Amino acid sequence: MSKCPYHQTTTAGSPVADNQNSVTVGPRGPLLIQDWQLIEKLAHQNRERIPERTVHAKGWGAFGTLTITKDLSEYTRAKVFHGVNKQIPMLARFSTVAGEHGAADAERDVRGFSLKFYTEEGNWDLVGNNTPVFFVRDPLKFPDFIHTQKRHPRTNLRSPTAMWDFWSLSPESLHQVTILMSDRGLPTDVRHINGYGSHTFSFWNDKNERFWVKFHFKTQQGHRHWTNEESFEKVGQSRETTQEDLFYSIENGDFPRWTLQVQIMPELDAEKTSYNPFDLTKVWPHSEYPPIEVGFFELNRNADNYFAQIEQAAFSPSNVVPGIGFSPDRMLQARIFSYADAHRHRLGTHYENIPVNRPHVPVHTYHKDGFMNIQEEFPNPDAYYEPNSFGGPVQAPEFKEPPLKLNQSVVDRFDHRQDEGNNDYIQVTALFNLFDDGEKSRLFNNIAGAMAGVPKEIIERQLTHFGRVHPDYEAGVRAELKATGHSDYQ
Ligand code: NDP
Repeated sequence: MSKCPYHQTTTAGSPVADNQNSVTVGPRGPLLIQDWQLIEKLAHQNRERIPERTVHAKGWGAFGTLTITKDLSEYTRAKVFHGVNKQIPMLARFSTVAGEHGAADAERDVRGFSLKFYTEEGNWDLVGNNTPVFFVRDPLKFPDFIHTQKRHPRTNLRSPTAMWDFWSLSPESLHQVTILMSDRGLPTDVRHINGYGSHTFSFWNDKNERFWVKFHFKTQQGHRHWTNEESFEKVGQSRETTQEDLFYSIENGDFPRWTLQVQIMPELDAEKTSYNPFDLTKVWPHSEYPPIEVGFFELNRNADNYFAQIEQAAFSPSNVVPGIGFSPDRMLQARIFSYADAHRHRLGTHYENIPVNRPHVPVHTYHKDGFMNIQEEFPNPDAYYEPNSFGGPVQAPEFKEPPLKLNQSVVDRFDHRQDEGNNDYIQVTALFNLFDDGEKSRLFNNIAGAMAGVPKEIIERQLTHFGRVHPDYEAGVRAELKATGHSDYQ
């Protein structure tokens, strides 16, 4: 071991003379409160934990590069998509949704797929999942949904009854539940999953034309998943299978890659599709809006400090750049609020000053003060409000987004189930028809296993939904409930 060229200090920089022995009254006597080095050490330890994320607490991440191979200036003014072979530094964080910070990696769960691109026009974050759809379409239902995935207040255990009760009463979840219970619901790691921006976003170009857009990231490593039985065995051996896989593959120079594809929909098409293109429980069929390959990203550098760079990484769908905009997708709109809000709560008001979150371009806001504000000077100290006469930064109208054209003007709490375009079954049937016989039988088996202990009334309600997708779906799950020994199906 080489000798460190500098000595240990306190946080104030004062040399530490003895890091082995506290100050005591005699060799066997009590401590003294004047031993501020001991107190500083204990106080820091007490503050090592920060609030874990309410969802997506268990995560793994790495740095890399996005390479754009197709110019998209026809659709967007975002400079990231102008020119080819442009390389943009980036960070990725993957996660499970329900498990706590110390949960096992190899769990059947959706995987978070969050990307931060440090572009020349500021940070662009895509905060998606390994599935193109989600369990609910209205954010009013999101906290309730997450409560069903977390622990029961009395037993402090996960509750399959709560999950299936909520899902069976919320048939918009059927598409995502089917993916979750299929092979892709239990990936071996995150190198072998696709990522999806999931929401509908928009592109707008120099001519102020708007297009709706979906982002897809296709794994170049292929898909790999475990059966439930395989995952039980893996968890018995290691709770950190994904961390091990991602960290060591990058450490060993085996850099994972994903192909970036976009689906682009002309603005007015949104009024014509048979499905609501802003419904997060829906995909855009590839036959109607073919994916266009526009680049790839590679992860090639591990974090040096997991806590500083991955645990404190703060992604938010609100981070867009000129040329990329939002859509009427109400789940997206809620997340635009709630992600930044979660970071202010977990990391503090100035979370974007933390190096991993800091844009690679200069930042000029008029935000002032607050906990942990590390901005020491304004470029001109007299220009600390706006408008001012002292040459402070001003707005730039050339970045104004074109107006969002919406035909609706009545404000109400509309019943989302009355909208034909929100049909909860048609696209699930399309997915079910993609599965081969082996995938179907594992789907039935996974669902029956996940229903252990769930009351019959709830199961029957859910079986009705499966039957509306395809009679084979309902029949297959019924047969598996019997085969796997559910007490109500013997
Ligand atoms: P396509 O056959 O054109 O597209 C199928 C898509 O489904 C591909 O992206 C493929 O991803 C993915 N896929 C293939 N097999 C499976 C599987 N076993 N589990 C999950 N996903 C799979 O059909 P459509 O576009 O008409 O979509 C049909 C259904 O496919 C949808 O209802 C949806 O459930 C699912 N799907 C659709 C996507 C879309 O954006 N249109 C995206 C992902 C899923 P890959 O190429 O990586 O194998």
